[in-house]
Amino acid sequence: MSRRKAGQARSPKARGAAAPTRPAFDPGAACPCGRDGQPYQDCCGRFHRGDAPAPTAERLMRSRYAAFVVGDADYLLRTWHPDTRPAHLDLDPRTRWLGLDVVAATEGGPFHNEGTVTFRAHYRESGHDGVIEEHSSFTRVDGAWVYAAALGE
Ligand SMILES: [Zn+2]
Repeated sequence: MSRRKAGQARSPKARGAAAPTRPAFDPGAACPCGRDGQPYQDCCGRFHRGDAPAPTAERLMRSRYAAFVVGDADYLLRTWHPDTRPAHLDLDPRTRWLGLDVVAATEGGPFHNEGTVTFRAHYRESGHDGVIEEHSSFTRVDGAWVYAAALGE
């Protein structure tokens, strides 16, 4: 179940000193969201850069997982419903994200205004492997999908 992937093991060469605690994510590497093995820059990178909105709740959820992997806290905050969004978000650079499984999704499509996604996110922290399982709800704000809340498992 928790089959380990190489993930960020081979970190790209650090360019500049932009993020001393986390190496820059190689935009040509397979997107960490695990969808079709597309390069990050053509997959969730488009959403992170603001070039396009995520078209479905599931794509938004995957792009939010990818934002954890690449350390894009701004994206996580701007795709969080204003009513449930934390004031700020500190991502722990010591957390290594190992992979994402989308277990189920309901609605959340182009013609819906609400949706849910059930997922498992695998991680490693201080040499210990863990998994976050969450049933999340999504809604739209000004037409764009945002994360609303965790509904429990
Ligand atoms: Zn992606």
